[in-house]
Amino acid sequence: MLTNAGVGTDTTAPPARDLAPVREAAPAGFGWNELETASPDIVLGRPPRPPALPAIEGVFFKADAAWQELGLADRPAALVLRGTEPPPVRMLRGCFDLSGRRPAEAILLPGPEALEEAAEARLASAHALLPVIDLSGRCPEADASFAVGDRASWAAVAGTLAGFAERRRSLPPRVLQAADLDTRLLAWTFIADRALQPRHDPGSRACVRYPGCFPQLETRLAAERLAGRGLLRRHFFDRFHACGDCGSFRLNVREECGSCRSPRLESVELIHHFRCAHQAPASHFARGTKLVCPKCSAQLRHYGSDHTRSGTVQNCLACGMLSPEPSIGFACLDCGGHTEGAAAARQDIFGYALTADGEAALRQGTVGTEAAAAEPGRLPAEIRAALAGAGPGTVLLALRYAAREKLLRRRGQHGFDAMRRLFLANLASTLEADSLHVATPEADWLLLQDAAPGLLAALTPRLLRGCEAPLAEPLEASLQTHDPLLLRAMA
Ligand SMILES: [Zn+2]
Ligand SMILES: [Zn+2]
Ligand SMILES: [Zn+2]
Repeated sequence: MLTNAGVGTDTTAPPARDLAPVREAAPAGFGWNELETASPDIVLGRPPRPPALPAIEGVFFKADAAWQELGLADRPAALVLRGTEPPPVRMLRGCFDLSGRRPAEAILLPGPEALEEAAEARLASAHALLPVIDLSGRCPEADASFAVGDRASWAAVAGTLAGFAERRRSLPPRVLQAADLDTRLLAWTFIADRALQPRHDPGSRACVRYPGCFPQLETRLAAERLAGRGLLRRHFFDRFHACGDCGSFRLNVREECGSCRSPRLESVELIHHFRCAHQAPASHFARGTKLVCPKCSAQLRHYGSDHTRSGTVQNCLACGMLSPEPSIGFACLDCGGHTEGAAAARQDIFGYALTADGEAALRQGTVGTEAAAAEPGRLPAEIRAALAGAGPGTVLLALRYAAREKLLRRRGQHGFDAMRRLFLANLASTLEADSLHVATPEADWLLLQDAAPGLLAALTPRLLRGCEAPLAEPLEASLQTHDPLLLRAMA
């Protein structure tokens, strides 16, 4: 059943939000009292006159010269993300221009706790394509890492800033100012000169993180859209298995008893008694220092002539079952659920690299085409929440309408919305599954629970055309389906 969560209401597009520059009371006269008034959080619980101040002052006075030596005109103008912790503004003021008087050249990331805010900046800020500089050394997804005492990191930051500035200059303004995620993500791969190469991350349920400080789930969806258009090239990164209960990829892989699934197995040696053909673990033959066959009670005397050691089996210490090979099973580290190896769903993870077509689309400013109709921001919150608890048979569909702009001009919002509703009602009658429906200005999202196995194959362009047939004119609907497994793990 379709539930209409407000076709045409513009509630999901986040307003463009710029990062607030950290205001300096009097940037020229760096003094301790000023710091206390400018950022009281920084000095809470500290002694009134820290002995480290002269060293900081030294950095402050030398910073301009240090940056100039590295090829920059000035101290880089930067914006600071605040995250949940107060950023080290005192140190940063010594090295960067935080006054907000010059256009920002970089975004400073205090640490992993501010990654969420960095993702919001990538989505919704006019500064989306500035390099993100990590100050903690713990965020490899950032574009560069900076530590005040590490001379090499100054050079790396200077190189990153210069590279970003140079490659930004070769892109047209409509790409640099684009608000849609697809264009921003593709532009980042070019400007940062870096592939979307995931790395293993045990801190997330999906066990992977993509670089670039974009939101993870949306990065993957956008990368798949771009790969589908030939603008990014996928390459295999790794394969994961999913918990059958909660969808997490964080699993403990175990050798288990095929009968009771206990991991308490031991390898035991088998003895084969030739005369009676009995075969059993060596412990069954042991009588003190002698070996006696438990079946025929004969004593075994000569290895090779009356008996042999014929290999090993797995003995379950929980239920006593002997088996030639252990079974493979997964214990979920997140929910404690158990999934048998053969039953576990598999998910391949890909990296993505910019193609020649992708670079050409960027240079010509043709990434954010109407047909791509990329979302400006995140997945609808209702869809995200429902995904987290979704079952394994879940399918997420995104419907977009190539004729949207044309129909809005000709029939207005009301007329376009009415056509969408009729189209979705027709589609719903052909989908025999419960669904959650959320409408955004660009797309209709359908989360189908317990979809029939053949459903995805049945969702052909022809079916969509059939659902459009009763309308006054076509919506030119297109459909994108999403990996439910990965969405569950990343949601
Ligand atoms: Zn689980
Ligand atoms: Zn067992
Ligand atoms: Zn025997």
